[in-house]
Amino acid sequence: AIILGLESSCDETAAALVATDRRILAQRIAGQEEAHRPFGGVVPEIAARAHVEVLAPLISQVMNEAGMQLDQVDAIAATAGPGLIGGVMVGLVTGKALSLATGKPLIAINHLEGHALSPRLVEPELGFPYLLLLASGGHCQLLAVDGVGCYRRLATTIDDAAGEAFDKVAKILGLGFPGGPAVERAARQGDSRAVAFPRPLVGSGEPHFSFAGLKSAVLRAAEAGAHGREDLAASFQQAVVDCLIDRTRLALEAMPEATALVVAGGVASNQAIRTALGALADAQGLPFIAPPGWLCTDNAAMIAWAGAERFGLGLMGEADVAARARWPLDPDAPPARGAGV
Ligand code: ATP
Ligand code: MG
Ligand code: FE
Repeated sequence: AIILGLESSCDETAAALVATDRRILAQRIAGQEEAHRPFGGVVPEIAARAHVEVLAPLISQVMNEAGMQLDQVDAIAATAGPGLIGGVMVGLVTGKALSLATGKPLIAINHLEGHALSPRLVEPELGFPYLLLLASGGHCQLLAVDGVGCYRRLATTIDDAAGEAFDKVAKILGLGFPGGPAVERAARQGDSRAVAFPRPLVGSGEPHFSFAGLKSAVLRAAEAGAHGREDLAASFQQAVVDCLIDRTRLALEAMPEATALVVAGGVASNQAIRTALGALADAQGLPFIAPPGWLCTDNAAMIAWAGAERFGLGLMGEADVAARARWPLDPDAPPARGAGV
């Protein structure tokens, strides 16, 4: 079967055609960096308006690239949340309209499920259950992935998400927008031992995350002016790595049934983080799976793939589904503060 995937929950507009046998027939991503750069962050209304303009032509492009007609698609998968609600609505309504027009089922996808299952698109060997570190712009969670639609949240951030910390530090250091890749580039030129930043929650008994204090420490150090921004970036990144590794190690202890350690979400494209997680998995005798960078940051192939997984299980056809700004993957997740839901 062939699934058309649509993604519009943040500032990338994306469409992709993915087959249930893991072939990616075509995919396109249109970023909006230029539109948001003057504001130093994503402006929700600008994002929503851009999705309106870009999504339909993007769908035509992927159909043409694959040499297919819309009626040859078996289902339409669209992100239904969580994310910036205006953008989510654009993609979801487009998906519903295509579903109506073609008579093919709509599959409403949780964007986080898209990230969570994305490694299985490129790693056929990856089975359930696995421990997933989902680190993105809005989330930092450790999830036990027991199956499609079966997620247990073992940990979350009590304040900022990991990607959010990268973005804020980029702003503090004047490295521009988007922040994650800029901080990583600067860090490569710096000394990670230059500044002894705090490692919030490291050593604590529950595997939660916290990055707000670390970000504030970077702000204070930047204002003090004793270090160059390369050293600040490298020291910050090392602190994040140490937090992620310590917390993930603890979660692995709580999940002895895990068959692999997996990382996904935009932050997973960071090479220092990938290397450290790989070493942790090695030490625990587990395979380490990290999708290629393009599949870590927002894209529609992961949405189409989550649709393909659901299509195979008959989980689809929700024409009346709502768009959701917040939508935890684990319905039993304990209430979290701040951005941690
Ligand atoms: P969510 O998935 O939680 O809804 P999102 O969709 O905005 O949020 P993603 O696109 O998955 O997030 O990831 C974007 C985030 O990843 C940004 O915060 C960005 O700074 C961060 N990021 C991207 N590349 C890197 C990198 N090389 N190093 C660190 N962080 C990175
Ligand atoms: Mg983005
Ligand atoms: Fe995302």
